[in-house]
Amino acid sequence: MRNFPIPIFLIIALLSSGIVVSCGSKKHAQTRSSINNLRYQVDSLRGLLLESKSTNAILKTENRELKKEQQAHLEKDQDLYSLLEDGMEKEYPWTGTQHFDLRKPNFVIIHHTAQNSTEQTIRTFKIAHTKVSAHYIISRNGEIFQVLNDYFRAWHAGIGKWGNVQDLNSSSLGIELDNNGKEPFSDAQIQALLGLLAELKSKYKIPQTNFLGHGDIAPGRKHDPSVLFPWKRLAEHGFGLWYNEDYLLSPPTHFDPLEALRLIGYDISNPRATIRAFKRKFMGEEVDEDLTEKDIQVIYNLYKRYL
Ligand SMILES: [Zn+2]
Repeated sequence: MRNFPIPIFLIIALLSSGIVVSCGSKKHAQTRSSINNLRYQVDSLRGLLLESKSTNAILKTENRELKKEQQAHLEKDQDLYSLLEDGMEKEYPWTGTQHFDLRKPNFVIIHHTAQNSTEQTIRTFKIAHTKVSAHYIISRNGEIFQVLNDYFRAWHAGIGKWGNVQDLNSSSLGIELDNNGKEPFSDAQIQALLGLLAELKSKYKIPQTNFLGHGDIAPGRKHDPSVLFPWKRLAEHGFGLWYNEDYLLSPPTHFDPLEALRLIGYDISNPRATIRAFKRKFMGEEVDEDLTEKDIQVIYNLYKRYL
């Protein structure tokens, strides 16, 4: 089996930036112990990567071109190399530890591709200038494709915010649904999505509230998944929250619905965009008109669930 190339980078990056070179014997001993620690860390990471499904898929793939492309990307990508180097604070002595693994995803962001086929999206994710990716694509007939290892940072969320989390790419998995944005989502696709979400939720212990749409985290920029997406059905399966339709009450007079949306997680810096995002998801309409009495009751009900 061929070695996965990332550890090579880690070795180079960590060795070149983290080791204190010195003449004193005590410092030599420190350096040796640092190297041993580094080797242990790198070996652990290598093991983890080799065990991961998509890495194995790359190593086993019959598609030689794809295999070559992905390996070349990892071997030559200067951005990745710089990032690894950037993670080392060069001025501090390196001590090391063997107790570590990779950070886990804590959010799932759902998208629609706004394209016409899964093949088109697969191509888009491989074209150099697009600079977009996701972890999974689900086709209209419910076939699931993994694009990137769950532990790696895909480029799907862009500029956005949920609560105080601003870099959602760093903490989320991105799932693209093959859908042009105007058509209903097929049952096969939603069934496949529910299965995938169940796996991810249990594997990474993702909280129910952290299953979101792209439009939720970037209300001024994005509107996917579209108004046709079945959020209520997802909530019934434990992904995202829904309001209690049988228990809608008028809130107290001091209740501020926009402030409540902020506490739920929405960015309210553009209130009309926030209202549009809320109505798209919970009221089934793509409008940014003023909140109705029913809208306010729904926000009040949701807000109490988030307390
Ligand atoms: Zn999107």
